[in-house]
Amino acid sequence: MSQPRLTLALSKGRLLEDSEPLLAKLGLAPAEGLDDRLLRLPSRDPDVQLLVIRPADVPTYVEYGAADFGIVGKDVLMEHGGEALYEPLDLGYGRCRLMVAAPRNRAPLPAFHRPRVATKYPEVARRHFAAQGEQVEIIKLYGSMELAPLVGLADCIVDLVDTGNTLRANGLEEIETIAQISARLVVNKAAMKMKHQAIRAWLDRFRAELGHA
Ligand code: AMP
Repeated sequence: MSQPRLTLALSKGRLLEDSEPLLAKLGLAPAEGLDDRLLRLPSRDPDVQLLVIRPADVPTYVEYGAADFGIVGKDVLMEHGGEALYEPLDLGYGRCRLMVAAPRNRAPLPAFHRPRVATKYPEVARRHFAAQGEQVEIIKLYGSMELAPLVGLADCIVDLVDTGNTLRANGLEEIETIAQISARLVVNKAAMKMKHQAIRAWLDRFRAELGHA
């Protein structure tokens, strides 16, 4: 059998679940279903193979051409820095907000105290507070950001918020929205030139499925 011409990188976890209906409609569902141990697997289309990898790695695989295109959250793209990739399509699902949040009943910070910000998105947080001229100390965490203010590790957090239930359950409130987040289709810049027809055809199919003109 011929080798697939294209490789699509998918973000393992929540976004993969959200992507499944669209992939199924496009004929790009995993040919034999998903298997946690399989990192590279055929799709139902013989021309496209799938990589199922950590969300934060998707931009890197696509940037270096190890995948021709990928599906990734805007939050991950913002943290990675998106200049090295094309981002032709907002897929419209996986919607949430990237927010600054802090304890509801917080005491005013002492003068000259540099607020500590706990986040999985240090670059986004750094840029956000720098743009406001605010000096902060960024503390990188890998999960459960909501815990950090409760135990005195941080004064506020930068994290994804969907329903707001997790914030409320932990006595936190929304302070500011940094960005509206959704899933994006990203494309390797060289592949866009070298495999133009094949990529173009897939972009058209994605657009048609999403109801874009
Ligand atoms: P919620 O309680 O619905 O506001 O969800 C907030 C929790 O879910 C936080 O711990 C977030 O990090 C996580 N979360 C919310 N939306 C997303 C998303 N689209 N992708 C990944 N994690 C998310």
